[in-house]
Amino acid sequence: LSEKLQNALSKLKGKGKLSEKDVDLAMREVKLALLEADVNYKVVKDFIDKVKVRAVGSEVMESLTPGQQVIKIVNEELTNLMGEKAEKINTSPIPPTVILMCGLQGAGKTTTAGKLAYNLKKQNKKPLLVACDVYRPAAIKQLEVVGERVEVPVFSMGNKNNPVDIAKAAVEYGKKNSHDFIIIDTAGRLHIDETLMKELKNIYDSVKPQEVLLVVDAMTGQDAVNVAETFNDMLEITGIILTKLDGDARGGAALSIRSVTGKPIKFIGMGEKLDQLEPFHPDRMASRILGMGDVLSLIERAQASIDEKKALELEKKIRSQQFTLDDFLEQLDQMKNLGPLDELIAMIPGVNSKMIKNLNVDEREIVKIQAIIQSMTIEERENPAIIDSSRRKRIAMGSGTNVQDVNRLLKQFKETKKMMKRFNDMGKTMNKKGKFG
Ligand code: GDP
Ligand code: MG
Repeated sequence: LSEKLQNALSKLKGKGKLSEKDVDLAMREVKLALLEADVNYKVVKDFIDKVKVRAVGSEVMESLTPGQQVIKIVNEELTNLMGEKAEKINTSPIPPTVILMCGLQGAGKTTTAGKLAYNLKKQNKKPLLVACDVYRPAAIKQLEVVGERVEVPVFSMGNKNNPVDIAKAAVEYGKKNSHDFIIIDTAGRLHIDETLMKELKNIYDSVKPQEVLLVVDAMTGQDAVNVAETFNDMLEITGIILTKLDGDARGGAALSIRSVTGKPIKFIGMGEKLDQLEPFHPDRMASRILGMGDVLSLIERAQASIDEKKALELEKKIRSQQFTLDDFLEQLDQMKNLGPLDELIAMIPGVNSKMIKNLNVDEREIVKIQAIIQSMTIEERENPAIIDSSRRKRIAMGSGTNVQDVNRLLKQFKETKKMMKRFNDMGKTMNKKGKFG
């Protein structure tokens, strides 16, 4: 999925302004990419409509970087689609909190029960695992092995009792032994059937869990969505755990499940090991699906490198219109401080390795600009107006460039200053109105 979407979105990069047609075209490809990722058709349609409404409006058209704006919108809407933020486990005001695990056979209930227990234990809680899968001969043993590994006790009554009685007895036992979380592992079926649902309902009625966590296998894609929908209709589930996202899951399930069931994905399983359970972060998942690279760390890195004091000085200069070619040079240096350009660029949304190759050109461009400025006298740097044609020739020679390069740089600088002046004037007007600064 991510590569497809990257392609679709990267087409938007490098354009000055987006036309409605551009957005339409890009969205058509985003749509195909999502469908291919096994996202529910209706979810895709709603999603595309929403993004289009936002993107084709002024937000994108008037933006300085339309491509980025669209990526931002697509990312935000994807995040919304999966819920806005990570959700925690519901707890009972009076312990113990009872958690009922449910889902199809092989989805990862038993493993995830163990992972949850481990997770809670690390938070200094005292969980109890309960073996209510009495049908598969090895199921109880499996939970016991898991319990041993995470050093959490397992409550079991063999397979002669029915799950409702076991669950009830376990809650009593948990209360007596001051367990604050009781995690009930249940049986699954290959397919949803009446008997299974009835049994889960009966357990639910007898222990009134605070959480009914549906465990679904992300690898099953669209099927996972159907399973979630059916379980949600028949049982009051409170959250979803998506397992096996470490495999080559196409992400379609994560995208659809929240919007189809309205229930939050609370955790994701990222491997078979018992410490491989993570809280679900919708924003991170959206970025991952979009292949946006690590946008957040890019921003953080940029902020850390640009010295705040220097930034303030620069702002002052811009305001007083004393921005010189020397300042320009310093800015380029700061850009370099961010690290190797190609590494940095790779973190930008939608960038692939092919584009990075082209980028080397830009890095060379920066070196060139630096050489040109460094070949100027201090006087020239402060007052570029004095740079006549003979000076231009001298600078070109000194920097190993040609006169056109020098001309281009001076023109760029002039444009930049003009823009700064406009920005400055705007600031002044707004200051008078008391809205700015
Ligand atoms: P249950 O039938 O629902 O109880 O499923 P199990 O807990 O027995 O898990 C079925 C299989 O899936 C086991 O082999 C687990 O190791 C594996 N499994 C569970 N969760 C994950 C996960 O997040 N990632 C991977 N790769 N495997 C998992
Ligand atoms: Mg099991």
